[in-house]
Order: sequence, then structure tokens, then C-alpha cells
Amino acid sequence: MSAVIILGTGLAGYTLAREFRKLNQTTELKLITTDDGSNYSKPMLSTGFTKGKSADDLAMQSAEYMAETLNAQILTHCKVNAIDSDAHTIELDSGETLEYSKLVLSLGAEPIRIPVEGNGSDKVFSVNDLSDYRIFRESLPEKGRVVILGAGLIGCEFANDLRNGGHSVSVVALCEQLMPGLIPEAAAQAVQSSLVDEGVEFYLGQSIQSMTQEQDELTVKLSSGETLKADLVLSAIGLKPRTALAAQAGLAVNKGIQVNPLLETSHQDIYALGDCAEVSGLNLQYVMPLMACARVLAKNLSGSPTAVKYGPMPVTVKTPACPLVTAPPATSAQGTWQVELDGPNVRALFTDGKDLHGFALTGSMTSDKVQLTRRLPSLL
Ligand SMILES: Cc1cc2nc3c(=O)[nH]c(=O)nc-3n(C[C@H](O)[C@H](O)[C@H](O)COP(=O)(O)OP(=O)(O)OC[C@H]3O[C@@H](n4cnc5c(N)ncnc54)[C@H](O)[C@@H]3O)c2cc1C
Repeated sequence: MSAVIILGTGLAGYTLAREFRKLNQTTELKLITTDDGSNYSKPMLSTGFTKGKSADDLAMQSAEYMAETLNAQILTHCKVNAIDSDAHTIELDSGETLEYSKLVLSLGAEPIRIPVEGNGSDKVFSVNDLSDYRIFRESLPEKGRVVILGAGLIGCEFANDLRNGGHSVSVVALCEQLMPGLIPEAAAQAVQSSLVDEGVEFYLGQSIQSMTQEQDELTVKLSSGETLKADLVLSAIGLKPRTALAAQAGLAVNKGIQVNPLLETSHQDIYALGDCAEVSGLNLQYVMPLMACARVLAKNLSGSPTAVKYGPMPVTVKTPACPLVTAPPATSAQGTWQVELDGPNVRALFTDGKDLHGFALTGSMTSDKVQLTRRLPSLL
């Protein structure tokens, strides 16, 4: 009998492996990853400077430890190049072919990159895994000057974190408000003002035109014509699900790898979860959805078909300068934002006059999270 193979050892891959082993201790299990297989919590990557944590501090367990506790084989620094769904095989970059009984894709998402003109473009970093974090930390001088590109959730978290770590931070973003799509303007204003009070500078409605490097100093030219001096640029303009491997194998792919509520892809015995997956039309790149999927998929792989359900899942944004919790309304939800303001404390409710469809809470208003979450509809 060939093995259950999980591609990826991020939170999705490892959580699934753990859940699977609770139900099935005997089936051969293999995990494959392009990185070193360290078990770490990715959300910690944007609090590492505040907490003074190196990449080694964030690596909770090694691949060897994980292999032993999961009774699994873990292939590290190994890329899967192709899937043959008819033959039930995958091809590794070493040329080796492995057979699977069930294959799970937990391939994550990759940073979106935009081309930047100038000889400084190799000073653009992104931090999407432990090894990126290691390189970024090693490249950033003490009290360094960082230009963050992007004012989404991750850009804002890094702005707060790097500032807490003693660095100078400028945020450049095309959008006119922080975290558009996630929170209404009043909440964005509260977060922005608090970050400005911490010393973060914002250049919104602008893009980077060029980056030139002279010795160790970068000159970042903005579309407004202004220039910023920096040691490096951190790009946080978004992540796109890793779908290429699935698409190449002929699996149905939209924004993410399409799966039904049983986490089945369009091809038999191939499943997907985590940042790479689009579950019944939803690609949610957060921890709570992947945990729900991992528990359900473990049952499916063990012969008890179960559909995943997403309850309301508010997201806590790690901007301690202005605590923020958000449960954005579904794109199909009808309604308007009703905003209550008390300085940096914002309580914004998205309602249709009768039912609550989303909320954004900042500062002391975050204490309403539990009570409001109970009133939200399920996502799936
Ligand atoms: C800085 C940051 C902060 C965040 N903070 C929060 C937060 O506070 N709350 C929250 O809910 N979410 C947060 N998120 C999102 C959350 O961390 C992710 O949703 C989650 O970690 C995704 O896990 P994953 O296993 O799907 O993907 P990943 O962790 O990216 O794992 C992908 C795996 O696939 C492997 N892989 C890829 N291609 C191949 C291949 N061809 N062959 C073999 N292996 C391959 C990789 O090596 C890796 O092991 C944050 C994300 C970031 C970047």
C-alpha cells in the first residue's frame, strides 16, 4: 500500500499530519518541503523584532523531531516538480518518482513581486517564511532604515514590529488608506495615527518609481517625486496562492486550488488546504480556516468523509500601537458601516439594518470581539 503524501510542512501540512496521526497510526506518511522542515508559527514572523527573536528562536522543532513524533518520513530541501494523477505519482527535483495513495497539497502562497527600476532592486526583501526572516534580519543593520512597500495587514504589522525593534520605518502604498478591503476608513485612521505617534511615516497613494544604490545606501524615488533614504525595502504587497504545480497537473485552479467542502480537488485522491486552497470559492490566508480544514481532512483521509464548516473567524491584527480585530463582511454582503468613535477607539459594525455581517474594532473596543462574533453569520 503506497503512502499518504503531504506537500508542505507549514502550519497546514504539519497540523494535518498531527490530526491524521490522532486517527491513524499505521498508514505510511511522508511530508515533503522545499525548506528545512522546521516547525514554526508563521504569524510570529511579524512580531520577531518586538520580541527580539532570531530565526533559530522561532524554529520550535526540527524536521527530525517532527518526523519522529509524527512517525513520518520528512524530505527536506526537496521540490516536487510534477504530479501524474493517473499514475498516482509525484516527481521530485532529484528525478526520483514517489507513489501516493492520497496526495495533499499544502503549498502555501508566495509573495507578489513587482519589477522596480534601478540598480538597488536586489535590496527588496519579502518575509514569508523562516528562511526569508533569517536573511532579512541578517541584512538589516541596527537602527536601520526600512521602506515597507504595501499597507495591508502584513505591511502594517511589520511597520509596528520594526519600529518596536528600533528601526526607522516609512510605508509606501498605492492605496489611500491602511488595509483597504479589511477595515473601514475610521478604523484605518485610528491605526495610522497610532503608528504615526510611534514614529512611522506614511506615503499613501504612491508607488516606488526607482531604487538606486550607492555604496550601502538606497535612494527610493516615489511617484510624487519625493525621495527616501533607506538601507533596504521590505515588500508586503500581498501573497498569491501557489497553484502552478496543480495547474500543470490539470487540476482545477481559480484564485487558489479549487476544492469542495470535503477538501477534494477536481482529481481523485488529491486534496488541498491552507493558503494554496480555494475552499468552495473562499481563499482565506489565515490560521483559523486551515486548522478547521486540517481536522476535517484528517477524517476524510481516515475514511470518515466530513465537510468543512467555517464559522465566523475574526482576525486579530498584530499592531500593538493600536490593537485591531476585524471580521470583514463577505463581498456579497449588503449593508453599510455604522461607526462609533472615541479617539483611537473605533467600533465599526457592517449591518443591513437588521443583521450584523462584519465588524472592525480598535483600541479598547476590541473587548467587544466575543460578543459581536456570536452575531456574525458563518462563512461556509
Ligand atoms: C508575516 C505574516 C504574519 C501572519 N500573521 C497571521 C496572524 O496573525 N493570524 C493569522 O491567522 N494568519 C497570519 N498569517 C497567515 C498565516 O501564517 C498563513 O495563513 C499560514 O501560515 C499558511 O500556512 P500554509 O501551511 O498554508 O503555507 P506555508 O507556511 O507557506 O507552507 C507552504 C509549504 O509548502 C512547501 N512547498 C511549496 N512549494 C513546494 C513544492 N513544489 N514542493 C514541495 N514543497 C513545497 C514550502 O516549502 C512550505 O513548507 C500571517 C502570514 C505572514 C506572512
